[in-house]
Amino acid sequence: MKTILIFVGLLYATFSLSQEEENYFNRLTKANCGTAEHVYKDLKDLEYDNRPSNRKNAGFTQWPLRAHIVTRNDGTGGLTLDELNAALANLNYVYSDISLEWYLADVNYIASDTWYDFVDTGTNEQDIWDAHGVDDAVNVFFVGTLTSSGGGSLCGFAYYPCNNDICLRIFMRNSCTATVANGTFAHEFGHHLNLPHTHNGTSNGNTHANAEHVPRSGAQSNCSTKGDYQCDTEADPTGATANCNYTGGGSDVHGNPYVPTTDNIMSYYPDGCGGLLSAGQYNRCSNAVTTRLNHTAYDIDGAPFDAVYDPSGLTITATDGTNSIDLIWTDNASNEDGYLIERSDDGGTTFSTVELSGVGPNTTTFTDTYELQGNTTYCYRVKASNDNPNHYSNQTCVTTDNIICGADTDLLFSGGGLIQTPFDIVGIPTSIPSCQTDVPVTVTAYGDFGSGFESTDILGEDGTTVLGSTGTSASDCHSAGAQATFNLTAAQYNAWASNGTITFYLAANSGVNDFCGANYVTGCCEIEICTSNPCDFATVNITNADLTGDNMLFDDIEDITTSAQIIYDNIIFRPANSITLNNGFEVAAGKQFTSEIGPCP
Ligand SMILES: [Zn+2]
Repeated sequence: MKTILIFVGLLYATFSLSQEEENYFNRLTKANCGTAEHVYKDLKDLEYDNRPSNRKNAGFTQWPLRAHIVTRNDGTGGLTLDELNAALANLNYVYSDISLEWYLADVNYIASDTWYDFVDTGTNEQDIWDAHGVDDAVNVFFVGTLTSSGGGSLCGFAYYPCNNDICLRIFMRNSCTATVANGTFAHEFGHHLNLPHTHNGTSNGNTHANAEHVPRSGAQSNCSTKGDYQCDTEADPTGATANCNYTGGGSDVHGNPYVPTTDNIMSYYPDGCGGLLSAGQYNRCSNAVTTRLNHTAYDIDGAPFDAVYDPSGLTITATDGTNSIDLIWTDNASNEDGYLIERSDDGGTTFSTVELSGVGPNTTTFTDTYELQGNTTYCYRVKASNDNPNHYSNQTCVTTDNIICGADTDLLFSGGGLIQTPFDIVGIPTSIPSCQTDVPVTVTAYGDFGSGFESTDILGEDGTTVLGSTGTSASDCHSAGAQATFNLTAAQYNAWASNGTITFYLAANSGVNDFCGANYVTGCCEIEICTSNPCDFATVNITNADLTGDNMLFDDIEDITTSAQIIYDNIIFRPANSITLNNGFEVAAGKQFTSEIGPCP
């Protein structure tokens, strides 16, 4: 009997693992976090951790990160340095709000089949620490698979601050590391900086001693001392979502329905639903920085950076017609562990990495596509991730065209008929110049489209006007996208964009389904709008002229030349920028040649 039971148990375990392996590329998320509940024994400690912090924006604190990359015995399977740097960029992006960044203080490779598939039972954790841990940096162990002592599959776990070197450890599963800013890596560092889950206590039921009530203030409120100890995050029981809206129901002990947001990094909600920490959470993190710096069991700012030759020759291009900026630089070093790309949206005053803006060693290019706005100036600089964090390449800037992508939006599903998913194009001019009559628009729909998908129409902000269609066979899984081009009339543009945002709708047929597990859709929109006072044309009138022997250049851009050399009738010529009249150009007697030079299309 005992033998049979074990056999059944083994079968079950194998089945569970294969199901999970099949799905985890899309589905294993920060919900698979193994960090423990956070409980205060003493309210004075809570007061200390939530006290007003003056560290925020007080100048950068730069902390060393020791990356322990566990491979199989044969050296395969480890986290790549591309992935490590992309993940590091996510961290520095999220925690730049409290002026905290990490640099790589060495990368340590550990070849071990046993530790590659890491089971956090017995002495494994202490053994790998004793063999490889250092007490002058945060130690992150990157493993192939991570399993809790209870057998659950984990993405990662971390420790809250404590004055013991166990609290310098973070364990991360490779496939959960270089994902999005809202992924498990930034989440575990949130724990490292003393943030509990948003559902801390509350997910144990509304009668749990540490359950948070819904009201943020008043007699029924307990948000400052229960749950995640934050009153600027909602009481969160954690539960089901649809299109990033909480659908899990439930209410607190006073009968107030739970209404948690789903975009918090410390929640268990899908990684694609956001990437925020609240002001109160950042304040706790700032206090945790102070707490950790005061600990004596380790010396977290003790590990030095390497001396690495800085990259140079950074040039950037905002390619017309795409929602991306291409960077290229010169790699002058032989000992870099990778590069971090920093961006400024305020003309070069403040920089930080953006989502996934890190690359491995010997890489000299990067394409930034992260939440770029049209008609906006971006500045960039690059640094080695293991160098002095203040050593940068040259800094250079570029201004984008009016090419704007909406944020990722969850694709809406329905049982039949058209499925309309809105997406916003934000940050656009609120009106067009009076001389412009049509606004050419190209929408590229990136979607989670299955092969049964047939077409998608692009609808205007009224939700009914069909502006264009992508045609059939939109691509699968958010890859190439499918395009629709159309013109908005001046009246449509001015009506819909008057608040700086146009909402378009993607209207797909009911064959669309959750093909790739991520079920989101993005619209990118190229809008051609005249800029720089476009109606103020330079006008050149030439009557009855014979310019034989002369070259006449109007305006200061020389790349357009008339093809007509003899003008026999009144004409208006409107080149984009300028006009050069070549030798032999003539205007017939009694006729007039007018050129209006301006940037309108
Ligand atoms: Zn967690």
